[in-house]
Amino acid sequence: SESLTVAELAKKLGREPSEIIKKLFMLGVMATINQELDKDAIELICAEYEVEVEEEILVDKTDLEVYFEPEDESLNEERPPVVTIMGHVDHGKTTLLDSIRHTKVTAGEAGGITQHIGAYQVVDNGKKITFLDTPGHAAFTTMRARGAKVTDLAIIVVAADDGVMPQTVEAINHAKAAEVPIIIAVNKMDKPSANPDRVMQELTEHGLVPEAWGGDTIFVPISALTGDGIDSLLEMILLVSEVGELKANPARRAIGTVIEAELDKGRGSVATLLVQDGTLNVGDPIVVGNTFGRVRAMVSDVGRRVKEAGPSTPVEITGLNDVPQAGDRFVVFEDEKTARQVGETRATSALQVQRSEKTRVTLDNLFDQL
Ligand code: GDP
Ligand code: MG
Repeated sequence: SESLTVAELAKKLGREPSEIIKKLFMLGVMATINQELDKDAIELICAEYEVEVEEEILVDKTDLEVYFEPEDESLNEERPPVVTIMGHVDHGKTTLLDSIRHTKVTAGEAGGITQHIGAYQVVDNGKKITFLDTPGHAAFTTMRARGAKVTDLAIIVVAADDGVMPQTVEAINHAKAAEVPIIIAVNKMDKPSANPDRVMQELTEHGLVPEAWGGDTIFVPISALTGDGIDSLLEMILLVSEVGELKANPARRAIGTVIEAELDKGRGSVATLLVQDGTLNVGDPIVVGNTFGRVRAMVSDVGRRVKEAGPSTPVEITGLNDVPQAGDRFVVFEDEKTARQVGETRATSALQVQRSEKTRVTLDNLFDQL
């Protein structure tokens, strides 16, 4: 805003309001504590304190969520859980993701396994589960920094021969901060040196008490290498998801989050999106972060061309005018004109911020530095 009250300005400057009122008086302005000061008055006072004022740039920081209007929740249906795997380096995250994918992807789709889009879906007992293939930390930090919540459940992998390590604790903290349920996969159980009791003991110290010990944290012993325990792990994921009552309405226009995006030489901007509500269709006018376009083509996690993608489905799209960023939100619009308008406004604002970021000093960040 272009104005501040005397009290607000005093606070920003770290002074008593009475002092500001006195200064104003010396400058020939009679003011009370709740008086609105215009830009000139603010500048005069700031000059007295040798503080430079920069105008706030009007930026369209509107969350795309505002374009996703509430609808009748009784139309919502169950949707698959979206799962992120985290844990200390070398504890077996990649091996586990591969193992789940290989045990569950049918032979006919085997060629598709190499089609890598940063997320994939498996079917267990007729129910789908979506796994995010991005490193767990990135999923939580970049996504959360942008305010996106994509994960419904965190699997924390702990090697039974190594126990709780620094990144294990970090992973626990991320999951707790995001308020998602945690399942502990005690991995490498095939190793003679495996010591699951030690893992349970150490995790208890971090507030994760196994059910066997009277707590409510689910521990599943597995071997990502041999595949032992993977079925129980998937079962537990579905069990915990049911409790969470995850729902979405597949009959409406889609909203969701960018998992990853890049510029492809041949195809242009390519983005992997996670549809979180609604259904995304080829041809949909869409705004993705500060980019926009029409969904030209969609490719599924197994490399198949698809025409639509429902809730919790990861899908790769082309057709955007620029490359969005991981964690950006996307929303589908009714018509291309509105999508273009919203997208262009957002792109312009983003550019302004970028240009001004280097030189920009506002009262706010100035005093953060002091
Ligand atoms: P990440 O860093 O957490 O992704 O760990 P990786 O999946 O790359 O695994 C690190 C090493 O541990 C690799 O050599 C794997 O083969 C091995 N590994 C992973 N899971 C198991 C397991 O269940 N048993 C055994 N014996 N080795 C495993
Ligand atoms: Mg790995």
